[in-house]
Amino acid sequence: MNYQNIKEQDRQIYEIIKREEQRQKEGIELIASENYVSKAVLEAMGSVLTNKYSEGYPGKRYYGGNEIIDQAEGLAIERAKELFGAEHVNVQPLSGSPANLAVYMALLNPGDKVLGFSLDQGGHLSHGHPLNFSGKLYTIIPYFAKKDTEIIDMDEVEEIALREKPKMILAGFSAYSRSMDWKRFKEIADKIGAFTFADIAHVAGLIAGKQLESPVPYFDVVSTTTHKTLRGPRGAMIMCKEKFAKDIDKAVFPGVQGGPHDHINAAKAVAYGEALRPEFREYAAQIIKNAKALSSALQNKGYRIVSGGTDNHLMLVDMFGSKQITGKEAEKALEKVGISINKNMIPYDPRKPMDPSGVRLGTPAVTTRGMKEADMETVAELMDAALINRADESKLAEIKQQVKEFSLKFPVPGIE
Ligand SMILES: *Cc1c(COP(=O)(O)O)cnc(C)c1O
Repeated sequence: MNYQNIKEQDRQIYEIIKREEQRQKEGIELIASENYVSKAVLEAMGSVLTNKYSEGYPGKRYYGGNEIIDQAEGLAIERAKELFGAEHVNVQPLSGSPANLAVYMALLNPGDKVLGFSLDQGGHLSHGHPLNFSGKLYTIIPYFAKKDTEIIDMDEVEEIALREKPKMILAGFSAYSRSMDWKRFKEIADKIGAFTFADIAHVAGLIAGKQLESPVPYFDVVSTTTHKTLRGPRGAMIMCKEKFAKDIDKAVFPGVQGGPHDHINAAKAVAYGEALRPEFREYAAQIIKNAKALSSALQNKGYRIVSGGTDNHLMLVDMFGSKQITGKEAEKALEKVGISINKNMIPYDPRKPMDPSGVRLGTPAVTTRGMKEADMETVAELMDAALINRADESKLAEIKQQVKEFSLKFPVPGIE
């Protein structure tokens, strides 16, 4: 990407893109929801497909001139079906939150009860935050991780479900490092006739790469973002059983959205094509190997990892419990050396959301850059050094230089 035209026409935005390129290249990206897309995905996103209006679905559009767009959206749908073994796919959701809004609208009426993973333990905003549509429109009943193990106890989920009889059971998370027992969720839902909805935004790439079990065979509806482990453009999709296809499609358009973003949907097709290749399985496996290596390296330095480790791409570190550093302090210190992470609540956190005990770390982005287990040792050392020296600005400047030298060994796709 050389941005020649932006450079000539709009110097301000050009400089911003260049500075962000530099930040991405020289820093270590450990935010669990982020990744680097391929050049092919970038090209599709930057294509003239953005010029088209195509409200409706392939073959049933409200605008003329869509015969070519239909082929692009059709490819995205076919590849997604193949990748996940889904009966029906809607690739139009603009992002994860609107996708989830469409799922609620398709299956529920306002006021209906939804059983979902407690937000302060790893659920997403769209799983019932009081300021989000989900918390305002629906009655959310939370389930929790067990206090001692910090793992979701399915017997307890069953107990709550039988007592509360929700209309829908939602399984999914943004900050939980253990595998989900999809089959058991479905068995519990069947006992009370509830719909099953899995939100696999974080782990879709690990499922597509056959490293984690998939909810698609069991669940009525599965939503996912496309820009996290799946390594596609910023967007989302919804998969469902055939019998929910009409309701889901109607809820996405005209229920929640107008025209689809055709350039993004073409980029989704490109990303799904990449994920169908055998190399993607190796990528997904390496993400998990790296997460386990980073988790152990940090444990060896005395950091407590929530639930004792990870099965997926992410981990929560109990900074305050093990090192008396708050999540906010840790985020700041690491930002100063070019390591991006985010502060995060841990289960039963004694501290407040704006300055919680924990941080969340993930390995999808560093794995895309080609880092392996041994590199995770280096990452843990750099993190530990920054945290120990968080009050020493000159030490932090030195560590920042080390982070830069280390990072530059691993190319970012699309950045020279
Ligand atoms: C990231 C995420 C979303 C929302 O995605 P946006 O694209 O940011 O709206 C939804 N659900 C879960 C579980 C997520 O982690």
